[in-house]
Amino acid sequence: MKVDFIIIGQGIAGTCFAFELLQKNKTFIIIDKQDDNTPSKVALGIYNPLILKWFTKPWHIDHQISFFYKFFNSFQSFFCKNIMFDTGIYKFLKTPYDQNTWLTKSMSPKRKKYMSSELFKLENKSLIYNEFYGLVKSAGRIDIPLFLKTFRNFCITNKCIVNELFNYDHLTIKKDHVKYNDITSSNIIFCEGPAVINNPFFNWIKLKPTKGDLLHIKCKNLNLDKILHASLLFIPLGGEIYSIGATYDWSQDDTLNTSNARERIISIFEKNVNLPYTIIDQKSGIRPSTFDRRAFVGSHPDHSNVYILNGLGTRGILLAPYLSNNLIDSIYFKKNLLKEVSINRAYK
Ligand SMILES: Cc1cc2nc3c(=O)[nH]c(=O)nc-3n(C[C@H](O)[C@H](O)[C@H](O)COP(=O)(O)OP(=O)(O)OC[C@H]3O[C@@H](n4cnc5c(N)ncnc54)[C@H](O)[C@@H]3O)c2cc1C
Repeated sequence: MKVDFIIIGQGIAGTCFAFELLQKNKTFIIIDKQDDNTPSKVALGIYNPLILKWFTKPWHIDHQISFFYKFFNSFQSFFCKNIMFDTGIYKFLKTPYDQNTWLTKSMSPKRKKYMSSELFKLENKSLIYNEFYGLVKSAGRIDIPLFLKTFRNFCITNKCIVNELFNYDHLTIKKDHVKYNDITSSNIIFCEGPAVINNPFFNWIKLKPTKGDLLHIKCKNLNLDKILHASLLFIPLGGEIYSIGATYDWSQDDTLNTSNARERIISIFEKNVNLPYTIIDQKSGIRPSTFDRRAFVGSHPDHSNVYILNGLGTRGILLAPYLSNNLIDSIYFKKNLLKEVSINRAYK
């Protein structure tokens, strides 16, 4: 078999990269060992253009958001599936200081397309605090399980995915191609998330793994129709089921459920909601975060056809389409790779 790219990993990164290749008529094969504990399998799927603690804008957000919509609109049309819920996020503004800061920042020309110019009172008696909320615009949720499953099924039908662990010893790298078992490819890209520590070509990139936990709960009559942010995210999934999370913990690197995280989520939920509820389950995952909060993208210092897309610790669903597009354009159309996320900073 001959392809343009071998892709290792079908999490958010590998899926976005593969769909971008597909749009550009490039061929690929994905090697991905299914695993229910990867961060993409537990992610809440929230996209949001602001850093909600300070109401500031992250790096390149205007470009990221506009490419994000282009990417997911194409994905939805291609697969005839509805996976994007562009509902906005209600941000709880507890103190008069928070409320004034919101209103002041929302007037800035740089932010006003993402922040409502007014504050809202929510007509929901189950919430302990009904007022005041600011509405974050260009924000919502991607149904990540459906996104990953839809693409995987497409790849299974088209015989371009293999459900197995990649064996690094079987890879031969030549100047103009790579070979893996019976596959010959012009390039290979590693999108392994936190499992990059097992990769002899890239195990030197320094990740700062960050554990996250969330709860799924059932709460009758809560009737939230939008995502709320009140210390944590409260996400309506339908059928009276909600995801609540996610926590951040830099001290642990396993995917076992953390009891501290569970207690923190419950405590925040009970401070905000005045109704009985039942916990359905708890999910935990390790985010492939980095020390400078920037992803790692680019080619191996000694092998120009061996690439990486990793370090998507937070905002992975916003970043992955944008960074995939930039990398592919740099390979095939000689565009510049974004220097802020370049792998060069890991070894220079
Ligand atoms: C609790 C929690 C909540 C989160 N919520 C959000 C959110 O709301 N919004 C957001 O944008 N981000 C969120 N994130 C972050 C998001 O999950 C990550 O950005 C994203 O999942 C990283 O994806 P990835 O593809 O890089 O890695 P992964 O998800 O780890 O995917 C890597 C894939 O490669 C496979 N693999 C690895 N090594 C091999 C090998 N040797 N052979 C074969 N296959 C291999 C793995 O099985 C996996 O399928 C959250 C994370 C956590 C933990």
